[in-house]
Amino acid sequence: MSSCILCGTETAIKNSHIISKLVGKRLKAGAAVKTLRNSLNPNVPAQDTWKDELLGPVCEQRFSAYEGKFAKDVYDPLRAGAVSVNYDESFYLFAASVHFRYLHFLLTKGRGTAPRGAAQLCADLKSACQRGTLDSVRFTLFAFHLWPVTPPSPYPPGINYYFAQVLDGFAFSWVIPPADETTVSNVKLESLLLVVTDREPTTFCTMPSIFDPHIIRPPGTLLANPAEPVAMGMFAPTLANRSIAVQDSLLSMSQAQRSKIEQEIKSNPNATKTRAHAAYVRDLALLNASMTTPRI
Ligand SMILES: [Zn+2]
Repeated sequence: MSSCILCGTETAIKNSHIISKLVGKRLKAGAAVKTLRNSLNPNVPAQDTWKDELLGPVCEQRFSAYEGKFAKDVYDPLRAGAVSVNYDESFYLFAASVHFRYLHFLLTKGRGTAPRGAAQLCADLKSACQRGTLDSVRFTLFAFHLWPVTPPSPYPPGINYYFAQVLDGFAFSWVIPPADETTVSNVKLESLLLVVTDREPTTFCTMPSIFDPHIIRPPGTLLANPAEPVAMGMFAPTLANRSIAVQDSLLSMSQAQRSKIEQEIKSNPNATKTRAHAAYVRDLALLNASMTTPRI
């Protein structure tokens, strides 16, 4: 028996997902290789996404209702190429529940990597999830659609694979000199970056309006277009670094594992029609451009 991290009830907890199962399922569907890999241990194929001892059945059920609505209203239309999607408060609660689970994971299993404000932010997210309401919260939730990257671009080759095919989580403190600090938690799904900050953009940015189109304020509309690069600029260096780190860790894969993957791709007649292949082609274009454009 363990206790549910949301309601505290002592209950039998099967390993529950930090990032919903539906996300992993769709990720696999977009690749020629039908197994997932954890970048920390790329030699071992995984059947499922990140799990931990989290929720009892009642709370699991509650979160999965938000997830179902998120898939139907937001995720699947975006993945099918919609340029804008309308959402209601279940998207907000979904995003809050994902960050709550991620920060809880970071605080309990992250070996000291959680930023200073993570515990308070996690507690605030938990409280909003428990109440199931957006009233009087201190944090701000954002969603950024990650548009395919084409040259010329400051992003490194590999960024398209990272945007399209990697699930990721990272949190940091954004220090504004001399002493101010904003805690930022990020969970990256396929082509969608979910962000939460422990305060409003007006307190950490002189041009808060650039973030406006990305704030999750239900009922609202999420735009899936590359028109707001300024707000993304804050995340660009971190996303670039994460994509390089993922490539580095994939390089640690054994030759046997690589051959196996190569074989699996070759034997799939639809391999070149997958989303993973489209990302690969875009990364090749970035690589070629980086080799032909003189660097200053
Ligand atoms: Zn519970």
